[in-house]
Amino acid sequence: MQDTQLPVAPGKDASDFRNFAAEARDTVKEFYRLNHTHQTLDFVRDKKADYLSLSRKRMTVWEALEFLDTLVDDSDPDVDFTQIEHALQTAESIRRANQPRWFIVTGLVHDLGKILCLYGEPQWAVVGDTFPVGCQFSTACVYPEFFALNTDSTHPVYSTRLGIYEPNCGLDNVHLSWGHDEYVYHVVKNHLPTEALYALRYHSFYPWHKEGEYDYLANDQDREMLKWVRAFNRYDLYSKGDGRPDAKALRPYYEDLVNEFFPTPLQW
Ligand code: FE
Ligand code: FE
Repeated sequence: MQDTQLPVAPGKDASDFRNFAAEARDTVKEFYRLNHTHQTLDFVRDKKADYLSLSRKRMTVWEALEFLDTLVDDSDPDVDFTQIEHALQTAESIRRANQPRWFIVTGLVHDLGKILCLYGEPQWAVVGDTFPVGCQFSTACVYPEFFALNTDSTHPVYSTRLGIYEPNCGLDNVHLSWGHDEYVYHVVKNHLPTEALYALRYHSFYPWHKEGEYDYLANDQDREMLKWVRAFNRYDLYSKGDGRPDAKALRPYYEDLVNEFFPTPLQW
């Protein structure tokens, strides 16, 4: 995986993305105030119990993509285009780098968990950077000062470094703040290879894949797969300034691709 295969959009520099401080969009800051206040271990367990039975809906990938076209992501300082355009841009940047087909389809579906908004979830329970709950919050998370508003930050167990976890227990055993990554992982987990599932499940886990935090909870498989999460992240992030994809022209290619990996509708 060569970084040189991952072009930053013309006229954009890597430092132009995820620039929370300079842009200082008030909606982004307010988003993280709510997110860090309400994402407690109990909240995450409740959402998992509610959603992960996948008994709400049966939908194709296309149906889910078309819904996403109506959504604007408050947590993202970089948005200027629709979600379906972002899905196609991400997939196309992976395709242009001659990556395998499973990786291209991963780009297409990676944000489909945002259909949680369809069920009336507030954006702070769907999008934004994720972080472990049930153990100490890291200052490497964006806007860490807002964790003081989270009741878990004074809990006798959840506020300790390990919290409810064993050292190196593996991320599969760690509860991350609830959002679209975990949801889409469960929806597609029987259809894609392990590398793809890591990219989907942890693409918003910036404290781990970007800041190198929480290694004490990771196991050897997590560390081995981290490179795929990072590779994916660069296509997700740096394709955002690319030209607008022609959804109509691209449709036949992506219909074939979706049919290859998801021949029948998915349970959501
Ligand atoms: Fe995402
Ligand atoms: Fe994305």
